[in-house]
Amino acid sequence: MTTLTKTEDTPAPTGPGAFLSVRDLRVRFSTEDGIVNAVDGLSFDVERGKTLGIVGESGSGKSVTNLTILGLHNSKTAAVDGEIYLDGKELVGSSEKDLEKIRGNKAAMIFQDPLTALSPYYTVGRQIAEPYRKHTGASKKEAKARAIEMLDKVGIPQPATRFNDYPHQFSGGMRQRAMIAMALICDPDLLIADEPTTALDVTVQAQILDLLKDLQQEFGSAIVFITHDLGVIANMADDLLVMYAGRAVERGSVREVLHTPKHPYTWGLLSSMPRLGGDINEALTPIPGSPPSLLNPPSGCAFHPRCAFKDQVSDGRCSGDRPTLPSGRAAACHLTAEQKQTIFIDQIKPRLG
Ligand code: ADP
Ligand code: MG
Repeated sequence: MTTLTKTEDTPAPTGPGAFLSVRDLRVRFSTEDGIVNAVDGLSFDVERGKTLGIVGESGSGKSVTNLTILGLHNSKTAAVDGEIYLDGKELVGSSEKDLEKIRGNKAAMIFQDPLTALSPYYTVGRQIAEPYRKHTGASKKEAKARAIEMLDKVGIPQPATRFNDYPHQFSGGMRQRAMIAMALICDPDLLIADEPTTALDVTVQAQILDLLKDLQQEFGSAIVFITHDLGVIANMADDLLVMYAGRAVERGSVREVLHTPKHPYTWGLLSSMPRLGGDINEALTPIPGSPPSLLNPPSGCAFHPRCAFKDQVSDGRCSGDRPTLPSGRAAACHLTAEQKQTIFIDQIKPRLG
């Protein structure tokens, strides 16, 4: 693979050591109804060659977090605080010009709906080749050859012919592949995948996940993978972050979090989703209530109004004190380690099978 994109000087790391390091990120939107605390003090790290999965119900701040990393927010309505280091470079204070350079080059994003990334008015090939030309200064011919190579890599048959097709001439699965080709053409060191396969049928989904893994092996990219499908997470991610109401409530390796979850919200999520390889007719237990409004989140632990175990914590701490998330393998919850273990073994594990 050519690495024409890697000729820029990389500034010496100034921030924490991880390749992508998000520190105490806060994103607030001013709306007519008030301030929406979409992301409320979130920290995580991702190393090169590793995949961080992020799970959480709809509205928990997953997409806003990831849009903020690539600086896609209209700063007129969003207030962003905290630090985001990508390869040592701090992004929160970066100019639009610097971010523009990073997007598509050092970092790229794939979405659930490829039509948000592909314009109907240009051929697929042109849309894949242009960013490459822009970021690398390659000639038109070189960029075309490289785009065809990428189309081939993502499994588009007859890539040289399909290069000239418009997005509507592609099937949904092929458009998704084309968007992945577009995201990966500059060998991004960071790939953010936001529910990239949710809209696809199971077979195409499996092919695309395999493809992302192969490409990660080849390029050593760091991946942030957002999904609410725990089967996909188990297959794709090394580490897992569980988000609730704009905060991380649990963190650990995928194995640890899926096999010995420690937070009542994670227990609820796992009990409400089909087991990996389980019977599709098995009874699921939905989490009672619904996610809170981020306009006016609950006091203390944002999950406490829905938590079945808050009575086991004394002094009203769950509604009064916000639990913190310690570093490493941890959950942000006031239950003691012993209580968590007993509840998990007696009540949760039997449900998960
Ligand atoms: P997720 O991806 O986890 O489903 P999002 O990150 O999209 O959730 O949204 C988190 C919260 O931020 C939601 O309450 C959503 O309504 C709010 N939000 C997202 N974008 C905006 C915006 N541009 N203006 C106001 N609120 C927003
Ligand atoms: Mg989302």
